[in-house]
Amino acid sequence: MSNIKFDLEIKFGTIYGKEEEDAVLRVLRNNAPTSGEECLLFEKMYAEYAGVKYARVVSNGTAALFLSMIGAGIKPGDRVITSPVTWIASAAAPVTLGAEVDFVDIDPVTYNLDPNQLEDKISNNTKAVIPVHLYGQACDMDEIMTITDKHNIVVVEDAAHAIGAEYKGRKAGSIGKIGCFSFHEQKNISTLGEGGIIITNDAAVFEKIALYRSHCTRVHGKSTKYCKLDEDKFPVGKKFWWQDFDDCGYNFRMTDIQAAVGIEQLKKIDQLNQLRINNAAYITHGLKDVPGLTLPTVRTYNKHVFHLYPVMINEKEFGMNKEDFIYDMLHKYGIKVGFNYIPLHYSTAFKNRGYKKGQFPNAEKLGEEMVTLPINPRQTEEALAYLVKSIKAVRS
Ligand SMILES: *Cc1c(COP(=O)(O)O)cnc(C)c1O
Repeated sequence: MSNIKFDLEIKFGTIYGKEEEDAVLRVLRNNAPTSGEECLLFEKMYAEYAGVKYARVVSNGTAALFLSMIGAGIKPGDRVITSPVTWIASAAAPVTLGAEVDFVDIDPVTYNLDPNQLEDKISNNTKAVIPVHLYGQACDMDEIMTITDKHNIVVVEDAAHAIGAEYKGRKAGSIGKIGCFSFHEQKNISTLGEGGIIITNDAAVFEKIALYRSHCTRVHGKSTKYCKLDEDKFPVGKKFWWQDFDDCGYNFRMTDIQAAVGIEQLKKIDQLNQLRINNAAYITHGLKDVPGLTLPTVRTYNKHVFHLYPVMINEKEFGMNKEDFIYDMLHKYGIKVGFNYIPLHYSTAFKNRGYKKGQFPNAEKLGEEMVTLPINPRQTEEALAYLVKSIKAVRS
């Protein structure tokens, strides 16, 4: 029984093993450089895994979204559409570049941005849509791509919850123009607590993202104006480079030690996701007859990787509201239940931008009824049984 609390902990989303330990020590003994060979290898492996041409590692998922907005050419005054039910990073990325956010309400079944409400929100200033693959299940990407293609709008997938998730056989994050992932400690794999990656098939977008990630540094080779200027100073055949800055950029680099861990984590991702899928199946089986609970619906063509396990609580039928459930689960059984997410238009950040309660009824219902149960790849059958038993007992 002693590990049950840790097994049910939502805080750590992955498992590290001997392989990660060895990788850390190997890079440490190589002086733990910033982005180098390990980052390049991790990028290559990730691009291959996701089925895309390019990948660039970054310091976190927020930086991935921010750089993607730069890659998509977002400027002050542009408008970007996303879901009101997500971590604030999805909506903050355009806002921090001076753009405005338009929320589109969620589909009440999948909890993802409802494509049926998307076209109405598109204006002449709409430059990008950020679909968020909430809880680990991909959005309805065909519908979203049809609409955005028609209006020539860039799609940046927020796949922070959806590492390894699939939509009709394609990896989440690989369908829009750009895909963003996070390797924060809670995510399905992690690179020592923080990290992220951006993927794309577009060479020009990739170059822009890569430049802004690291101060827009361009290392000029043999054929640049700088080298030409100084050519006579250097003997022919001698390697010479000159550093230039195309623009003012950022430092959102990942370190090699993180990437080396990422490589080992990526080798295990399908296995780690399978454990989550199995654990979700156990919970679903255990709770399926409990009145008042709406358990997750998985589209037949989706591979849902259960970053979180969402449950809607109908107070009347279950006999208890969300707040009391969260409180009692913690205080009676020591189980920390989450509430991802309070709709973003309730936040001060977006109230100050003119949003009001009543605008997004499906998101608001989720805000009132949604709890997220602990799920991670460490869970033993004993821990899962304790979770299910506690939920059944808490209402009596
Ligand atoms: C975690 C997360 C992010 C941001 O990732 P960080 O690595 O924490 O910056 C963005 N979007 C969603 C949906 C997330 O869950």
